[in-house]
Amino acid sequence: MTVKVQLFIDGTWVDASDGGTLDLVNPSNYELIGQIAVATDADIDRALASAKAGFDIWRKVSAWDRAAILRRAAGLIEQRKEDMALRLTAEQGKPIAEARSELSRSAEIFVWCASEAIRSYGRVYPQRVRSGRQLTVKEPVGPVAAFTPWNFPVVLSCRKLAAALGAGCSIILNPPNEAPSAVAGIVQCLKDARLPPGVVTFLTGNPAQLSERQVNAPEISKVSLTGSIRVGKLLSQMAGAQLKPVTMELGGHAPVVVFEDTDIERAAALTAGFKYRNAGQVCLGVSRIFVQDSIFDGFYTAFAKHVEALKMGNGMDPATTMGPMANERRVEAMERIVADAVERGAKVTHGGKRRNDGCYFEPTLIRDLPDDSLLMTEEPFGPVAPIVSFKTYDEVIARANALPYGLAAYAFTGSLKTATDIADDFEAGWIGINEFTPSLAEAPFCGFKDSGLGAEGGPEGFDAYLKTKFISQLAV
Ligand code: NAD
Repeated sequence: MTVKVQLFIDGTWVDASDGGTLDLVNPSNYELIGQIAVATDADIDRALASAKAGFDIWRKVSAWDRAAILRRAAGLIEQRKEDMALRLTAEQGKPIAEARSELSRSAEIFVWCASEAIRSYGRVYPQRVRSGRQLTVKEPVGPVAAFTPWNFPVVLSCRKLAAALGAGCSIILNPPNEAPSAVAGIVQCLKDARLPPGVVTFLTGNPAQLSERQVNAPEISKVSLTGSIRVGKLLSQMAGAQLKPVTMELGGHAPVVVFEDTDIERAAALTAGFKYRNAGQVCLGVSRIFVQDSIFDGFYTAFAKHVEALKMGNGMDPATTMGPMANERRVEAMERIVADAVERGAKVTHGGKRRNDGCYFEPTLIRDLPDDSLLMTEEPFGPVAPIVSFKTYDEVIARANALPYGLAAYAFTGSLKTATDIADDFEAGWIGINEFTPSLAEAPFCGFKDSGLGAEGGPEGFDAYLKTKFISQLAV
């Protein structure tokens, strides 16, 4: 299977104006699987002009008609799911079942945003004078520049596409160079759902060039990124200099706290299942596992059983439960993190090594490591799980909240009091108690601290593409 990923500008798929391309590589075997276009400055400028023209058309389309197009796109995503899931696994590596589920969740987001589009109500105020009306209406913010990462390239792109389009914005989507072709399939669904030209644009190429030119362009009214904290700060600074609003969904380092009053086997099974999903490349994923000392050994043994049962391999094989990492950079990062843990006296009881027939890193389990190790302080974004012990509630909540990240946090406990208190005390925007909930179309997702700015998903995420206008009128 080889693909050619072009740019989508003004309703048409085109090559880069100078013919430039980058290779697309399958991380499970290093095979060349396609080429992607590298947009030039001239292509970006054409995209900006088209997004501006597209906005002028789209903002005048009624909310009901916008919703109809989003629902048609959702139907097409469901119909074409298998083809896009195969592309996603080929270029990103995740097991095919996970790719199918990502596509289904993407279709769901379009359905939900279609419904939200027709509920973007304003407000009418009690009359101050006879024959007067005072009201607020919601309007789309304008053309959006959106940037998405490679770990969930489809669903994270759809969160931005569906909300921006539902709100009446045009959008230039910049998907990740490592995994753009399934996202291109989504854009094709929107085209086939009869979205007018210029309303959605799709650009690949040099990330710094793409973002700098778009964020600084007068045509762009809003910037939305899902990505690393480093790039989030960079784009926020650029946007801030122009007073453009941003939505930033950035990195995390989620703790899970396992109390002694929980069902150990259940907590271990759920935590291990969640930890190694997408080879650990999940922003909401668990990356620090704190277990109360009285149950530490039992939990560790139960967790290890699940690590031993994982089958690492090519995501196209239905028996595979953990695929490769998405690229070589992540494999090298895992080697660095594990080497640092070993240097600090930690014990690697499972995995810890790369495999050289693709971007593979073994599912890894580590114990006895200090809280200031790399693994416990820097977002690992990979299949390496540290399990450490704690004694008291106060101690563990301080350790769990100690980092500048605040994306997600989880706990397992049989006590209603502990569950309630810890949900209040965690400094994070996404909390799971006795479960790990994947992100939902209807629920907002807001990183605290360095993990983000603003919300994505749910009514809050939809609202981020709207601005409020106050109108006062008097009949004379
Ligand atoms: P990244 O920040 O390197 O890239 C994200 C996107 O930004 C890419 O499409 C990239 O091309 C683009 N980009 C724009 N300007 C750029 C520039 N100047 N330099 C580099 N890239 C630029 O992130 P990544 O490595 O692709 O993704 C992993 C990160 O994303 C992790 O930190 C992870 O936690 C985070 N993430 C967050 C969420 C969330 O919802 N909070 C979800 C998934 C991933």
